Amino acid sequence: MHLKNDAIAGDTTKLLVDALALPAFIVGLDHSVIFTNALADTLLLDSEGNSLLGRSIQSLLSQDKETQCLDEPFFSLTQTATRTVRLNSVGSKSVEFSVSALKDPQGSVFSYLFQWQRPTEQSLQDGSDATGLHRDTKPRHVGKAAEKTGQSSWETRCHIENDWRWQTTILSANHAIWDHDFERDQHFVSETWRQLRGLSQDDPFPKSNEAWLETIHPQDVDHIKNELRRLDSQETDIIDYKFRQKHTLGHWVWFMSSGRVMRRDKSGLPARIIGTDTDITDIKTVELERHRMADRLHIAMEAAGMARWEFDVGANYAYWDDRMLEIFEITDGINIRSSNAWANYIYPDDREATLALAAECLEQGKDIACDYRHMRKDGSIRHIRTRGKYVRDKEHGARYYGVNFDVTRDYERAEELEQARARLEHDSRHDALTGLANRRYLDDVFTRQSQYLDRADLRPAILHFDIDYFKQINDTLGHDAGDATLKHAAEILRKNVPEDALVARVGGDEFVVLLLSAPDPSELEEIAKNIIGDMSQPFFYGSQQCNTGTSIGIAVAEDAEPLDNGLFINADLALYAAKKAGRGRLQFFTREMKTEARRRKNSFDALLAGFDNGEITCHYQPQFDAQTLEMTGLEALVRWESKKFGLIMPDEFLSTAEDMGLVAHFDELVLRKTLHDLEKWEMQGFDIPRISVNVSSHRLNDPTLIKQLKPMGIPEGKIAFELLESAFLDLKNEVIERNLKQIERMGIDVEIDDFGSGHASIVSLLQVAPKRLKIDRFLIEPIVASNRQRDLIKTIIGIGQMLDVQVVAEGVESWEHVKVLQEIGCCYLQGYGLARPMDAEGVSTFMRELVTKNGCLAFG
Ligand code: C2E
Ligand code: CA
Ligand code: CA
Repeated sequence: MHLKNDAIAGDTTKLLVDALALPAFIVGLDHSVIFTNALADTLLLDSEGNSLLGRSIQSLLSQDKETQCLDEPFFSLTQTATRTVRLNSVGSKSVEFSVSALKDPQGSVFSYLFQWQRPTEQSLQDGSDATGLHRDTKPRHVGKAAEKTGQSSWETRCHIENDWRWQTTILSANHAIWDHDFERDQHFVSETWRQLRGLSQDDPFPKSNEAWLETIHPQDVDHIKNELRRLDSQETDIIDYKFRQKHTLGHWVWFMSSGRVMRRDKSGLPARIIGTDTDITDIKTVELERHRMADRLHIAMEAAGMARWEFDVGANYAYWDDRMLEIFEITDGINIRSSNAWANYIYPDDREATLALAAECLEQGKDIACDYRHMRKDGSIRHIRTRGKYVRDKEHGARYYGVNFDVTRDYERAEELEQARARLEHDSRHDALTGLANRRYLDDVFTRQSQYLDRADLRPAILHFDIDYFKQINDTLGHDAGDATLKHAAEILRKNVPEDALVARVGGDEFVVLLLSAPDPSELEEIAKNIIGDMSQPFFYGSQQCNTGTSIGIAVAEDAEPLDNGLFINADLALYAAKKAGRGRLQFFTREMKTEARRRKNSFDALLAGFDNGEITCHYQPQFDAQTLEMTGLEALVRWESKKFGLIMPDEFLSTAEDMGLVAHFDELVLRKTLHDLEKWEMQGFDIPRISVNVSSHRLNDPTLIKQLKPMGIPEGKIAFELLESAFLDLKNEVIERNLKQIERMGIDVEIDDFGSGHASIVSLLQVAPKRLKIDRFLIEPIVASNRQRDLIKTIIGIGQMLDVQVVAEGVESWEHVKVLQEIGCCYLQGYGLARPMDAEGVSTFMRELVTKNGCLAFG
């Protein structure tokens, strides 16, 4: 078997040598020439014209002195190491041959191949990469014709290489060889052929084509059948196909079959075919994987909406894949486009810049990356992102390989984000309710502009104001009404200030207008007056009429001073002064205001110190029965008995206390003192029927008020709370409502103070069902002189009687007043004309004197 293999392998080699396109012959291990091809015969015929066949190689070797090969035994050569030898040819001219050993599949040398080498082509064999898998590794039957047509040295080289490679392939253990002689019914397959299929020497070889086809992968059978048909019908002599065949272990092995028909019988059918099978499973796996990857890439690109393009710079044309055509709505299906085509699909506004960038990249051989817009046929705008890689190689010259993808969604998202960001930024810089700038924005603008303004010699002006009665509206009509008031004010501001002015809401009901370049004072005054005018107009919240107003402080930066926050403070001081001067005023800042502010600051400090040192106390003003002039009670009035300044009246410090948030504390203090004094007087044997204490709306609004009152042990029916009528406006205020109910339950009377000075209707006030109304002294004062005023008070008293509400007249300064009030049926009287406020000690004295007068004041 082994011998037979060798013999057939040798036979195959001869066939190949015969097919070589250059003189070649084979020398056996006994040194004799055992086979020559025709070209070798022509080249090496001896002088008698005999063939080389059978001659010893020794007789052919050149005797040139420089030829060392005689000494060099080439019988130990391996395939890869070839030698060059010189042989004598016709006319004793020596020619060079390369010698290489031929080995059987087991690796044993069985003969030597001598191949002619053109003198100029000596180095050719060195370049062989001996892959053996080259698609052109078939033996060529070029023959003499090729020699005659004057092949180029390159072609010759290819042939030499190819033939050499093919031999290598055949003889290598990595490739299987097969040789089917159908005429002689001789079939040879090499050991490798069996090994690759997992067959052993003893496994039978498929008997027929059909049997062989059964081992082929079903998907490849048709293809092979077709190839065999082409061989049979003489369509081709070449065998060149790939297929999968089953390995005995069960897996499929990919083969590449290469071969040719060597002979045909009389009917033209192949009589002998020889070829090789190469196991290309690995390559096929790689190839399949490559296909899969290409598929995946394709799918991924499709999923990503990516379109592919190539631009051949030299040829000046571009390749656009179908997706590119889709993006640009091209329907002609032509993928090759002129390089100018692109411009037509770029939105005109972006065209120039995009093309300029592309030209620059091209010129500098740089990759390109840019976005541009494309207008679709329906007029919608798409944002396209292009990315191109610049590649330059010898084969193709300069090229771009790139992708295009629609990033409109990204742009939309970016735009949405930008809008959201802008909205956030806007929100962070604006007041949500009125849409005006907020304090932060105002400060930002002012700080940013300050330096510029300083340099440009521009002087900014600030108008600062707040809304009169805002707190009352908010407290009494609720927050919605408060919000409506703020919006109303914002509207008025927008309407009245110049367009370039910045209007900001800087606090609850505080607004600032910043004018970066102050107009004339007269113009500023005009603006302020207009705002005041509009604000003083009542407006409606639902069906509810709201009366507001405003005072405005104005500060203009002075030339000599650097711009800083002082300007805001000045405007604030001006506002304070405006408000002090009365409602609905405007006031420009003056330096005196600063002095005044400093003084106020001092009074803050002083008042706080006074409070801490127990200098806050109260005096009492008696009240009398209008008819009998018996003393019916006292009103406790807060006083500051300052060690430093002497006795200070509430008008002088209450607003400061209010600013400091101290009033509620004062109220509490007065109540404690009152209770304390009441006890003392009772112990002294004086019966004080009732003491009224003033309660600020702050305190009435305090949810913890009842909790504070409970432990004080307030005797029932002895204490009354005087509340300003404005505190009652908001009947919706739950805290006030709850507090009032509890107060009543604790046996504390509720009196409405300064009745007639506020804005609530009598009806709404009476819903609270107070025990008493105290009529403001400004309403009482004119009753002596004015009948009309007297009638008004009379009406109030009448309504009070109807509703069982007693009426107290305040500011009773004269006996004329007493007389009139008695006549119109007033219940109680309080005023300087009867008794002035006095300290606790004074009350004791007063009571004592009163006792001597039967408990009544003497008329007159
Ligand atoms: P009010 O509650 O209306 O107190 C009456 C004020 O009128 C007292 O002034 C009193 O001295 C003054 N008065 C009394 N009779 C006459 C008169 O015939 N003619 C004139 N012209 N005035 C008269 P006072 O004590 O200066 O109090 C002023 C205001 O201070 C009070 O007005 C009240 O609103 C507030 N007040 C006083 N004490 C307290 C307190 O303890 N707590 C709170 N929250 N406010 C208080
Ligand atoms: Ca009072
Ligand atoms: Ca009063």
